[in-house]
Amino acid sequence: MKIGIPRALLYYKYEKFWTTFFDQAGIEYVLSPVTTKDIVTRGESLAIDEACLPTKILLGHIDWLIDKCDYVFLPRVEYAYRAQMCTKFLAQIDLVRNTFRDRKIQLLFYNCFKKGPRAEFKAFKKMGKFLGLKNAVIKDAYTKARQAQQYFEMFRSQHQLEVLKETKKNKVLVVAHAYNIGDKFIGEPILRTLRQLNCEPILAEYFDAYECIHQAHEISKTLPWGYNQHLVGAIAKYRDDVDGIVILTTFPCGPDSMVNEMITRKVKDKPILVLTMDTQDGTAGLETRLESYVDILNFKKEHRNG
Ligand code: SF4
Repeated sequence: MKIGIPRALLYYKYEKFWTTFFDQAGIEYVLSPVTTKDIVTRGESLAIDEACLPTKILLGHIDWLIDKCDYVFLPRVEYAYRAQMCTKFLAQIDLVRNTFRDRKIQLLFYNCFKKGPRAEFKAFKKMGKFLGLKNAVIKDAYTKARQAQQYFEMFRSQHQLEVLKETKKNKVLVVAHAYNIGDKFIGEPILRTLRQLNCEPILAEYFDAYECIHQAHEISKTLPWGYNQHLVGAIAKYRDDVDGIVILTTFPCGPDSMVNEMITRKVKDKPILVLTMDTQDGTAGLETRLESYVDILNFKKEHRNG
């Protein structure tokens, strides 16, 4: 049996966790490639207009995978960091089943409707049974997968804190969901342009989620979505350490449209640039906006240094 893992959405959160679990359990899998324009175009043709860009990209990846595996892996997760997820994550399975019904798609998933690691382990146990795995194998693979994810996140966060401390470049806090900043089509042009402009992108997503969420209340006490709490908390915790903030969002995103507006109203002490990505071709407009933004950062720096 071969599993297909779409390189989209939750993959960018759980890459280490999922791949370690399947490796340890001896389950063969194929990963879709990094997002290309073709994948985006295909996903767009399959999606309804109202779908957000990451959902369109997910459909494009599944389209690429569907004939190359027995089951497409697509978990249903309701909570992130003990808070709600955007409802799109709950609807994905139904959306995908319906979109690919004529191609008789087979999905492999775990349902995680409760908060905390116990619920997650139970969900993995159920999925493991479906895959014909013994209890001991599931437990061992799950434990190793959780550890791998934890070390990965810890290392990433520590490395970024060192960069934040040591770099002499303009530090730009890039506020974007994992599946936006991690995706080659969405995030890479922004990171590349910032680096070309001699800036150091500092990713909100890479900071420890629980530490950030602990401080998110300084900006909002009522934010419902876990992933947005993490990003807003990173602004609250690190805004004094950076020169500016770039918010990268995708069209049309309900949660981000509200949260971004709230951030720009409440955070007044740093230059903020909001970039919204769609399925558009080319990055010329984006580069021009980033160049103007970095000019402002440079101007402010020169002004500060007299
Ligand atoms: S948070 Fe926004 S971008 Fe993410 S899945 Fe929901 S609607 Fe799409």
